[in-house]
Amino acid sequence: MRVVVVGAGITGASAADAIRRRGAESLLVDARVPGQATAAGAGIVCPWSSRVSDPAWIALADAAAARYPDLVAELTEAGRPDPGYRRVGALRLASDDADLAATREQIAERAAGSPVAGAVEVVDGQELFPPLRPGQAAVHVAGGARVDGRAMRDALQYHVPRRTGPAQLLVEHDTVVGVSIFGKRIEADAVVAAPGAWAPELLRPVGVEVAVTPHRGQIVHLGLPGTDTAAWPVVLPPSSHYMLAFDDSRVVVGATREAGAGFDHRVTAGGLAEVLTEALAVAPGLAGATHLETRIGFRPAGPDLLPLLGPVPGLAGLVLATGLGASGLMFGPLVGEIAADLALGVDPGLDLTPFDPLRS
Ligand SMILES: Cc1cc2nc3c(=O)[nH]c(=O)nc-3n(C[C@H](O)[C@H](O)[C@H](O)COP(=O)(O)OP(=O)(O)OC[C@H]3O[C@@H](n4cnc5c(N)ncnc54)[C@H](O)[C@@H]3O)c2cc1C
Repeated sequence: MRVVVVGAGITGASAADAIRRRGAESLLVDARVPGQATAAGAGIVCPWSSRVSDPAWIALADAAAARYPDLVAELTEAGRPDPGYRRVGALRLASDDADLAATREQIAERAAGSPVAGAVEVVDGQELFPPLRPGQAAVHVAGGARVDGRAMRDALQYHVPRRTGPAQLLVEHDTVVGVSIFGKRIEADAVVAAPGAWAPELLRPVGVEVAVTPHRGQIVHLGLPGTDTAAWPVVLPPSSHYMLAFDDSRVVVGATREAGAGFDHRVTAGGLAEVLTEALAVAPGLAGATHLETRIGFRPAGPDLLPLLGPVPGLAGLVLATGLGASGLMFGPLVGEIAADLALGVDPGLDLTPFDPLRS
């Protein structure tokens, strides 16, 4: 069996790799449009500190976070390049004593059901993340993790044959029979569409409307030359902003969440000001850091916080996997594996009702 996967972000890379590992043939097609979310995403994997209460989101997020360590071990054992996943812990900062107690209780309750969440305890934030304000109390979740989206994507797609170009779906008698790139026909027994925020552009020509829009994120990378940042945890302030460190003396602070910017791939003065103001208010110790780069990505936002995942009604042979929004680096590997199962006709063992790909 041969499956074409459209979109080589983390979701499509995972689907294409899973199809191969399940013994079928896969081909990964990507248009390389600027603003791939996977290439810009921060990489926080810590569902237990989230305030989302939807049970379907919680169940999928916990399963996605729990899948990471095993998947990374499988990739590493198979000799793939380092997927850049590290369980460095996460700090949820509290605004006052009452917030600290409530936050600790909420996170401990959420973490209790997870095999990978680890211990939850109150700590002095600055001891673990030195640029923070002195005396900043925080709740620490030991199993919180970070992943380098580019490295994970590349580790997943390592053995998958790839083509570059904008894919169009080929439909015959209400069945997707492959894709075309620059007019060249590539036939397939099934197609997985993982086109991120560009889902409407791919599906509208075949008469399918999907409720996905781009949410632009501007995210700033700072350098702290000579500082070993490898073990620093993810930091989650009370706002929607955050910061995390990578192994190469790098701290990433983000991010804007812009629903009305379309696919405008620019760093804006307002975006930079917002991200840096929020970061320095929480971590004044970053004031002397070097500005390395600002990345831009378009989060694929659906009508709610759940992915759009499943076979597309009325078009046989097509599985959609998008709408991963602000949590797609966490969801992507698992959602890709589920999409692979669906494309191969394997029961993924999950009630797909909440993920209806055509809901609006
Ligand atoms: C600033 C920022 C911070 C984030 N932080 C986090 C975080 O901390 N934790 C977290 O879990 N998530 C985070 N996210 C969200 C996460 O990055 C995304 O949800 C996830 O990467 C989406 O992956 P995807 O593979 O579905 O889409 P994408 O990564 O956008 O990939 C889609 C791909 O499809 C290709 N494509 C589209 N149409 C076609 C076509 N017709 N033919 C061929 N190719 C096509 C595009 O070129 C693109 O490469 C963040 C996102 C941003 C922008």
